[in-house]
Amino acid sequence: HLSKLPNVGTTIFSVMSALANKHDAINMSQGFPNFKSDKNLIDLVSQAMCSGYNQYAPMPGNMELREAIAKKMDLLYNSTYNPEDEITITAGATQAIYTIISAFIKPKDEVIIFRPAYDCYEPAIEINGGKTISIQLTAPNYTIDWDEVESKFSSKTKMIIINTPQNPSGTVFSNANMLALQKLTQDSNCIVLSDEVYEHIIYDGLQHQSVCRFSNLKSRSFITASFGKTFHNTGWKVGYCCAPKTLMSEFRKVHQFNVFSVNSPMQKALADYLKEPSNYLNLSEFYQAKRDLFLSLIKHSRFKFKPAKGTYFQVLDFSKITQVGDVEFAKQLTVEYGLASIPLSVFNNNNRDDKVLRFCFAKTDETIKKAAAILNSI
Ligand code: PMP
Ligand code: GLN
Repeated sequence: HLSKLPNVGTTIFSVMSALANKHDAINMSQGFPNFKSDKNLIDLVSQAMCSGYNQYAPMPGNMELREAIAKKMDLLYNSTYNPEDEITITAGATQAIYTIISAFIKPKDEVIIFRPAYDCYEPAIEINGGKTISIQLTAPNYTIDWDEVESKFSSKTKMIIINTPQNPSGTVFSNANMLALQKLTQDSNCIVLSDEVYEHIIYDGLQHQSVCRFSNLKSRSFITASFGKTFHNTGWKVGYCCAPKTLMSEFRKVHQFNVFSVNSPMQKALADYLKEPSNYLNLSEFYQAKRDLFLSLIKHSRFKFKPAKGTYFQVLDFSKITQVGDVEFAKQLTVEYGLASIPLSVFNNNNRDDKVLRFCFAKTDETIKKAAAILNSI
């Protein structure tokens, strides 16, 4: 009776990584690289520590870092955010997402999410008394039916959460999707939370559709982003969010009493590193080569797939192999074959099971080859 989240257990990412460690399995479950971050960036952290960045950073974040982010948004999306009052540095995108939701969602407010959905959205909505309204997308194309979204959209809809490139499906929003979202929300008070942590990881020449490219969306939107994804250091937990001033001032009311500020030396190092666009502009190419290696090696396996369009996750359909549940099959693969993945049903409405597993290919080529050999043997 004490619990505010009686139906929430331990996140699948902790569960599967622990199982992988216990059985010494290759860990393609939780999304993190198994290679090192650039040595130059690591050197910048120690330089920042040696030169005195060891006390509290300013509440909204290191100003040089906010300025570097503003320049990047201008360079990539031709979009202006004022570093003074429209950009805030956060303890990863997770904290930004939680803070945005708790700053705006009141009891009974409805929040639309697209499933399969990243797992931190729903608990944050529920703990604030909000109601999650799910739009279930289906494998393998995960296409959005905007008529369905419109049928669930009403004056009670306080927020819509989108995520492009999308974790876990590896799909991306098209320009048409963004225009549909813009049309749907244009005469409403609905806030858009746009989770863009994979903005720099998009394939086959596709262009990332940031909400800030669409002026009528930008004015109602938060963008959340994460350096962990971009610079191969998920353990640093530094991210940020951007939003128009009126929204950001509400965000900061919560942020200042939630974390106050984020660790200082990493922010200084990231500021210096972000100033050089080549440090993030080649990320798509880097990961596309990994995706292509992985898929070319397993093309004759019994797993079916459509190549991921973005993110460093590839979903594989195992329905030709077995009809056991995806959670069960993910465990079997880890324990008996030594390869850990994430079952997609945990992200779906009522745990709908499409017999799909997610594999993180942010791994060395050697690890990808070993994993492919396992998948080919099944
Ligand atoms: N959103 C999505 C879609 C993610 O995949 C992740 C984690 N990788 C996050 C948010 C959280 O990012 P962070 O690790 O910076 O908190
Ligand atoms: N975002 C990472 C993933 O999708 C995991 C982050 C976490 O462990 N919370 O795998």
